[in-house]
This record gives sequence, structure tokens and C-alpha cells, in this order.
Amino acid sequence: MIPYGRQDIAEADIAAVVAVLRSDVLTQGPVGPRFEAAAAAATGAAHGVAVSSGTAALHLAYLAAGIGPGSRVWTVPNSFVATANAALYCGATVDFVDIDPVTRTMAPAALALKLEQAERDGCLPDLIVPVHFAGLPAAMAEIAALAARYGATVVEDACHALGAHDGAAPVGACSYSAMTVFSLHPVKIITAGEGGLVATNDARLAARLRLLRSHGITRDPAEMTLPCDGPWFYEQQALGFNYRLTDIQAALGLSQIGRLGAFVARRTALAARYDRALAGLGLGLPRVPAGLASAWHLYVVDWPPASRAEALVALRQAGIGVNVHYIPIHLQPFWRARGFAPGQFPVAERHYAGALSLPLYPRLSDDEQGFVIAQLGALCQAVKAAE
Ligand SMILES: *Cc1c(COP(=O)(O)O)cnc(C)c1O
Repeated sequence: MIPYGRQDIAEADIAAVVAVLRSDVLTQGPVGPRFEAAAAAATGAAHGVAVSSGTAALHLAYLAAGIGPGSRVWTVPNSFVATANAALYCGATVDFVDIDPVTRTMAPAALALKLEQAERDGCLPDLIVPVHFAGLPAAMAEIAALAARYGATVVEDACHALGAHDGAAPVGACSYSAMTVFSLHPVKIITAGEGGLVATNDARLAARLRLLRSHGITRDPAEMTLPCDGPWFYEQQALGFNYRLTDIQAALGLSQIGRLGAFVARRTALAARYDRALAGLGLGLPRVPAGLASAWHLYVVDWPPASRAEALVALRQAGIGVNVHYIPIHLQPFWRARGFAPGQFPVAERHYAGALSLPLYPRLSDDEQGFVIAQLGALCQAVKAAE
């Protein structure tokens, strides 16, 4: 089976993990900070805070942004459920902004309309979370300008987009946001097995994230509010969590991040070949606006909705693990029970109806991709013949 995504593990990655296993310290050792420094360098942010998952990174970023009971968080329906769930962990309420049909990321026009209405209704959001879907940066300049005008903080969900660029700036430089969140799950751009990262330029936010990641406890005498009893002393100052990344995982992440450029280059080359080979098939293909460079986490084509399910089954039977990104969050039973209904975010719903994610990962060979392209061509012809 050719999957839609998978990790690329080199011997150097394995050696890095084994070295930690042979060392005295498996967690809270020296490798975590080394990974954080490398991640900060790769994203262009001043600080990188590593945590146990992308979901934990979203949770802590929202908390550090001051989100709590009574806060309002807006994101897009075209994302993984974790983007919205993390707001509920904080006790906030969630609403969605529809996407742009071409970029499949938050539509600035929809955001502007929704903000005008929310201002009239007295329910402006505290936090706006655009998602860099498939690795393509959202329209950050426009979103950030709107957020600033209405007093909302911006956190970027860049779980797909490590290694992407907006102009000359890497995603994660936080030019338009307070914090940017990444996932280190094996299907994402680099992996630590599981893991997440928050990038920020704000030293106070970084300190808050570090406190919350480890039970709300500090061991730094400079941060203590009580007189320090002695060298064993620590203070709990907030309700935190155990969201730490182990040194075992950090070693994998550190080894992987050295190949970030090569990973994104290979993904970009594979995407360019799909662009060329699929151009005549009548499918909607992903488009990258001028000035942006996608990390190409996903290659999502827009298949005619009437035959999408059939196409997915036929491709899987041929050994091609195509997938669908995403079932709009607001259509999940959990979110319908919170007042959402079909028809509310029509662009995200139309995108879902035709979405088909093709295999895309650094180790996808030219031959495997050729096989995928040939199968897609044959399937499109069969669909046309049946019409
Ligand atoms: C993967 C992902 C997450 C969650 O990351 P985990 O590391 O799996 O917890 C959140 N948002 C988006 C858009 C994702 O793709």
C-alpha cells in the first residue's frame, strides 16, 4: 500500500535516538533545549517551546494568549478537530470562519463580514486561528490587519506548514501573530514520533508556555514569589500540565530538522510533477498564490463530488492510500450538538465534497508516483466514459 503520507527515518535519526537511550537522561535533559534552539532557528522565531503534541501546543498557546472561560475563539471548519477542541479545553466558545475556495484557508472577506456582524452583536472574538491548510500559508497580512482592527490575538495553526514561506519569511517567524503552532506527528513535515512546538518572538509568552508545559512549576529562583527555602525548592504558580517532550523524541526531532530543507524540496518536486501530469484530467488542482511557498504537507485535488467516493475506493483497491482532508469540523456530531449545522460554511462543505488527498511524502519514489498518476488517469477516463 502506498499511503497518503508517512515519515522518512534515516540511520542518523535512529543513531540519535539510541544515543539518548544509552545516556543517563531520557527526559528534561540537554536534547530538548537543543531541539528548541534548532526549531527556533528553522522558523525564524526568537523562541521555540517543544511539547508532547501539536494538540498540546495549541492548548498551551491558547492559554498563554489569555484564553479562558468566556473567551471566544474563531478558526476554520477545514481543519483537524484539535484546532477547535483546544479552545474548549480552555473553557472558551468556538465559532468558525469559512474558507477561500482557491486557497482552502481562512477567507479574509468572510472574516471581515463576520467581524462586522460580531461588533454589532457585541461578541467579537478574543483569538483568531488561521490554519495553513496542506502547508500553504493563509492570507496572514489581511487576517492580521483585521484582527488588529478588532482587538483579537492571532495564533497560527501551522501543523502542516513547517518549512513553508510567506515572502522571504519562514512560517513560524510570527510576523503576523503572537504564536505559531507545529505538529511533529509522523505524517507531518518532520516527526518526533509525537510532538509539538510553539514558536514565538515574545519572551514572556515563551516563559508562560514553559511554565504551563510542566505542571505550572518553576525551579528558577529569579521567578519565585516566596523566599527560596533551599536548593530543592520549587514553586507551583499556575495550573499546568505534563506536556513535556522526552529527550528521546527531541533527539529524533533534532535529527529530522536538519533535513527540513530536503524534505520540503522533495515534496515540492513531487507536487510540481502532479501539477504537470494531472493538468489535463479536468480535476481542480491546488494553487499557490504568488509570494507564498507551500511546505506541501498534502496534495489535495478537487474531484467531481458525484464520483469521489467511488474513486477513493477504487484507488485504495489499487493499493493507493488516498484520503480526505477534511470533514468540516462543524459537521461532526460533537459540534452539531453545540449548535452547528450543515449549510453554515458552504465553501468548506463544497471543498469536502470533492477533496481527495494524493500520496505525498519525501520517500514516495518516482515510480510509485508514476503509478499513482497512471491510475488516476485511467480512473478519470472510466468516469468520463460512464457519463
Ligand atoms: C496534526 C494537526 C493537529 C494536531 O497535531 P497532533 O500533533 O496530532 O496533536 C492540529 N491541527 C492540524 C491542522 C493538524 O494537521
